[in-house]
Amino acid sequence: MVKSFELTKSGTRETDVIDLTDDVQSFVESSGIRDGVAVVFTPGSTAAVSTIEFEGGVIRDLKRAVERLAPEDEPYDHDAAWGDGNGYAHVRSALLGPSCTVPVGDGKLLLGTWQQIILLDFDNRPRKRKVLVQVIGEP
Ligand code: ZN
Repeated sequence: MVKSFELTKSGTRETDVIDLTDDVQSFVESSGIRDGVAVVFTPGSTAAVSTIEFEGGVIRDLKRAVERLAPEDEPYDHDAAWGDGNGYAHVRSALLGPSCTVPVGDGKLLLGTWQQIILLDFDNRPRKRKVLVQVIGEP
């Protein structure tokens, strides 16, 4: 059985890290699926999905790490071609990836105790971010 869900989150012009865990757990519960997987995907080339311990210190550390990996103020060929100034955001998105898959057991996401599912929005202008969630498994 496959159940599909969708949600939207608002980002700012800064790097946003948004906790999706409660939303995804609610989708798992309304899916009626007890055992399987939840796939969480963002269809955007300047966003990403991952997991983290959702705690202020680690969030700031992650933002600094992606700033070192793909600094906003470096020249990017993408910006030279398109002039939208978000080359850094596309590179960060590619490095972190658009999705994660979490096992579901007994109707619960099998995350670690200190592990949350996050949406990262890197773009340089405020955007509405779509997130697709598919819960796949047995009732
Ligand atoms: Zn762009």
